[in-house]
Amino acid sequence: MSINEEFLNPNDYPEEQRKLVEDFNSRLKDCTGVVTALGKEYHTIWLVDCDDLKMKLYRTTGVNTVSGLVDLALRQGTYDKFIEAYVDTYVVDRTEAIQKDIRPKVILERIKDGDLYTIDYMRMNDEGSISWHQMAFALAGEPGECSKFILAFRDVDKVIKKHMSDKLYLREQLDIVNALSRDYYNVFKINLDTGKVMILKLDGYVTKGMDQPSDKVYDYDTLSRQYVKDRVYYEDIPDMLEALSFETIKKKMLETDEYVSSYRVQDNGEIHYCQFTYIPVNPANKASGILAGFKNVDDVVEGAKERETLITLAETDIMTGILNRGSGEKKVKTAFASGKFGLFCVADIDSFKKINDTYGHFVGDKVIRGVADILREESRDRDIVFRLGGDEYGIFAQGIQDVATGSKLTDRIFKRIRDFKVAELGEDNFSVSMGAVIVPQHSELSFEDVYKMADVCVYKSKATKGNAITYHEGGADK
Ligand code: GH3
Ligand code: MG
Repeated sequence: MSINEEFLNPNDYPEEQRKLVEDFNSRLKDCTGVVTALGKEYHTIWLVDCDDLKMKLYRTTGVNTVSGLVDLALRQGTYDKFIEAYVDTYVVDRTEAIQKDIRPKVILERIKDGDLYTIDYMRMNDEGSISWHQMAFALAGEPGECSKFILAFRDVDKVIKKHMSDKLYLREQLDIVNALSRDYYNVFKINLDTGKVMILKLDGYVTKGMDQPSDKVYDYDTLSRQYVKDRVYYEDIPDMLEALSFETIKKKMLETDEYVSSYRVQDNGEIHYCQFTYIPVNPANKASGILAGFKNVDDVVEGAKERETLITLAETDIMTGILNRGSGEKKVKTAFASGKFGLFCVADIDSFKKINDTYGHFVGDKVIRGVADILREESRDRDIVFRLGGDEYGIFAQGIQDVATGSKLTDRIFKRIRDFKVAELGEDNFSVSMGAVIVPQHSELSFEDVYKMADVCVYKSKATKGNAITYHEGGADK
């Protein structure tokens, strides 16, 4: 609609009405093209004098207005008083900021070059509901020649709400894609209905047949199978074919909002660690698509390995390489607590002080390390072998329930000790004394109880001549 269509032809009206028509046309002229721009969307349009701020009503439809709007303006008379009262009475959000934005000086500055200036706000309606509205300001004529501006009001609730929900949805999508893109070299979007996939980002490994990101769609299963065959470390291929198949992805996305796993890839003969993540764009509506990200996690794996090394170091007795007292004791306590049964032994080197005194600490150390090696080598991997301190060791051999079985282990140890040669010792041999306790399943004995019992037995063994073992009598029941 153009402004010309709004002018009325005075000749179409009876003589006595022509004055009114001309008056209407002159008011319309004041608005020139701006009214056209504002169109019929605005339910109420005012003309405001730039100098004295007096308001003249140009049009009101009565629809979408609050009943007091026109009254209020007429009562206040001038724009500054009216708009302040209006915002105070009806606007329910950002009231203070809006009060600043609608000051005459601000308005005139914003529209002086012919721009349309709008403010969206939430308004209380007559029946108490709240909806989005907009006030618009524009010069009522050409910049520089104009002495009036237009103030118009319209309802923008539907538009804004749609816009907001679109924006929110868009923002959620972007957030997810951004979050993935930050970490992941390759990002894909999968349609769970069709099994088609789009490439959103491709900074990492490029599978045969893939192009740079575009609207192009690929068959998900074809791409993922190709990827697994070309890229994944051969041992992981069968698992990964299964893990990345469209069927699996669909199933996983029903069960969870995040499907993550790491796997190994091979690159120029080297093994690297990668991780995939599948997440729905919108968890509330998984049909909106699934995002898949792929990244390298060598750093994380290295970090974990490093941590493992540190833990191992912290648990190890540096001199002998077997567990230290703290970690050995902890592991034995854990084994007891989980109901494990077995043979607990304490071994102590006989007259060790004499070795130190005769041959020096260096040779003493060799002996301590030698005994540790023997204990470690003669027991099984799952047995707990540790240095209690000095020349004293602890062994918890899980699963041994009787003296006969226990003796097989200790006989092997004694034999190795007898055969052990330390060059500096020459023909001088050394021996070890042991004390043992058979700890039954779900025993109520603490580590301290068992250790004390075994220690008493060590001293009984010391009374006999070397490489002897004494069992705590009657098992270990209190
Ligand atoms: P017993 O037959 O009664 O066990 O006599 P022992 O001489 O072995 O006596 P004891 O167990 O009391 O002596 C242990 C000695 O081991 C005391 C300490 O100086 C020495 N020792 C402790 N730790 C180390 C170590 O790491 N290296 C060396 N060379 N000696 C150690
Ligand atoms: Mg000793």
